[in-house]
Amino acid sequence: MTLDELRISLIDCQKCRLASGRTQVVFGVGNPNADIMFVGEGPGYYEDKQGEPFVGAAGKLLTELLESVGLSRQEIYIANVVKCRPPNNRDPQPDEIETCQPFLLQQIKLINPQLVCSLGNFATQTLLGQKVGITKVRGRTFQRPDFTLFPLLHPAAALHQGNLRTPLKEDFQKLKHVLDKMKNTPAHSNASDAAKPTTSDSQVEADTPPQQMDLF
Ligand code: SF4
Repeated sequence: MTLDELRISLIDCQKCRLASGRTQVVFGVGNPNADIMFVGEGPGYYEDKQGEPFVGAAGKLLTELLESVGLSRQEIYIANVVKCRPPNNRDPQPDEIETCQPFLLQQIKLINPQLVCSLGNFATQTLLGQKVGITKVRGRTFQRPDFTLFPLLHPAAALHQGNLRTPLKEDFQKLKHVLDKMKNTPAHSNASDAAKPTTSDSQVEADTPPQQMDLF
């Protein structure tokens, strides 16, 4: 299956209750061969209307942060954990995430990026496979079987809580170091060399006991 075939297969997806309130499925956007992918939580009001992730205020901030590390939206790929807007921008529920997650994993497999940046708690917990709080793991690299994971605060969280802007900017500067290492390493030759994981999964478990999901 190609990425476009996956997108088309989801146009009328009815697998979870989020189908009933959406304007459209927000599949993802960007370079289908991207080395770097960003994964957010789910579509908001504007994303649902326009059919594209990160087009509202949080999207504007994300674009600025990307530019601050020399990335353009055209060269990366952006998707969400759930592809339909939760009503009133509520958090996606565990069963909705579980139902939609295989599509994200398939999307990542087809794009085959070296680095996946998870934005906020939901994307991080989904891709790390653990209920750890984003504040415990942000700005660090984690080696997953097929890619390196780099969790970041969600830009929407930084818009709502001004004190999170500085740590978010700092983490993007850390991301820049990871990207610089990637540039000096042939694509997919050895992702662990390109972005050396600073922490193994077992260390995360030891350092950060499972937590309940909280905002971002
Ligand atoms: S959120 Fe995902 S699983 Fe649920 S209806 Fe939309 S595409 Fe299907």
